[in-house]
Amino acid sequence: MKFVCDVMLGKLAKYLRLLGLDAVYLKNSAQLKDISGSKESWVFVTRRTNATGAPASIVVRSELARRQVTELKPILRPLIDPSQVLNRCIECNVPLEDVERGEVEHRVPEFVFHHYKRFRKCASCNRIYWEGSHARHMTGLLKELLD
Ligand SMILES: [Zn+2]
Repeated sequence: MKFVCDVMLGKLAKYLRLLGLDAVYLKNSAQLKDISGSKESWVFVTRRTNATGAPASIVVRSELARRQVTELKPILRPLIDPSQVLNRCIECNVPLEDVERGEVEHRVPEFVFHHYKRFRKCASCNRIYWEGSHARHMTGLLKELLD
């Protein structure tokens, strides 16, 4: 299932991507129409309480992304695949690809290069990810969601 996050929920979309979920961020309300036409199953996440025109929507109340994730916990929990966690570019929503260490040597800080064995990259924006790059602020959130 794909999540479509409303205009004001950009940070929530990033959190969902960290969790390995497919989360699109709506840049403007008109985009909702394009998505409505797609056959994929998706759900619209919004803070709007008035009609949005989306066939399936979930309303979150909190203004804080982290709390929004907690609100969505009952829905997210069964969808989280531990092997997919931290496996998506948080900017592009694209699954990451493994990359040779040699290829990243000059693209990450020396400290990072020597401390981590596995590197991955986003084929869309070319950003390099390693285990420590988004793991730290994730551990707490994951614990909260999976416990
Ligand atoms: Zn990217």
